[in-house]
Amino acid sequence: MSESPECRKLPPLRGTGCDNNGRITGPLAEERTVSLIPKHDGGKKVDLSKIDPGDTGSVSKQDAEQQTVSLLAELAELQDLLYAAGETAVLVVLQGLDTAGKDGSIQHVMGAMNPQSCRVASFKVPTPLEAAHDFLWRIHAETPGRGNVTIFNRSHYEDVLVVRVHDLVPEKVWRSRYATINGFEKLLSDADTVIVKFMLHISKDEQEKRLIEREQDPTKAWKLSPTDWKERELWDRYQEAYEDAINNCSNKYAPWYVVPANHKWYRNLILAQTLVEALRPFRKSWEDRLKTIGSEELKQLRAMRQRHS
Ligand code: AMP
Ligand code: MG
Repeated sequence: MSESPECRKLPPLRGTGCDNNGRITGPLAEERTVSLIPKHDGGKKVDLSKIDPGDTGSVSKQDAEQQTVSLLAELAELQDLLYAAGETAVLVVLQGLDTAGKDGSIQHVMGAMNPQSCRVASFKVPTPLEAAHDFLWRIHAETPGRGNVTIFNRSHYEDVLVVRVHDLVPEKVWRSRYATINGFEKLLSDADTVIVKFMLHISKDEQEKRLIEREQDPTKAWKLSPTDWKERELWDRYQEAYEDAINNCSNKYAPWYVVPANHKWYRNLILAQTLVEALRPFRKSWEDRLKTIGSEELKQLRAMRQRHS
């Protein structure tokens, strides 16, 4: 990978604790965390062939796992503030080829968030009703409101990925969708939605390994589909489609992150770190909002007590 060495530093770990309710608390990752992977927000173009899916950024598995615990505690804390302040929405887009780890990421990283204000929306082959509408119809209906987090397990990007690779619509149609997606994501951003998009990047060999594992493990075989092996034959076309989607739809208001995902522990660290970094800048504003709401409520409570005394 091409990042500079300072991209790879990990914050020092200050340990973790547990409060009386069993919640992980207290010592959180240092605010000065430096990103392990680049943000694609409209500047330099991405070349997927130059990003090693097996990269682990010189981080040991043990360090990564410890840091992930610490970052996830901070993520849960930020999510509480997000919910209480009710000013901002968060949309996380998860894309990747079969077996790339979308489900595992949801379980291990997003699972740290409070289900009260966090949900997953999964997008499959469009139903006849969905297919009778424009491609964003079903997507827009699932976007998060202020205070909430929604994780898209696949997304509107399928309409420029699988749809392109399988020639489900003419090129003119899928190509015009890049601009439509940019406009749509700008609309969400203007309505206070923080958008973070992840492509889980695995190697062809790792995919083969995971498909065979699924075949041999009766607890995982339910995830298999005979089409997975057929889709694999279209590997290069998918890489091309992903690269174009990322390069055409990377913006400051909706950046993409290409996550080296062959090693699940590294993938988890990157996801946790990227989400925390996306939300940290809002902490002060959310805390201020809570203070305002709190003092307003207290004022009303005192007024009520006076009226009844
Ligand atoms: P899975 O995520 O393994 O449950 O599979 C869902 C399937 O739905 C994948 O093969 C996707 O490519 C497919 N899919 C999702 N969105 C679309 C779409 N807009 N058009 C066609 N196929 C889609
Ligand atoms: Mg599948």
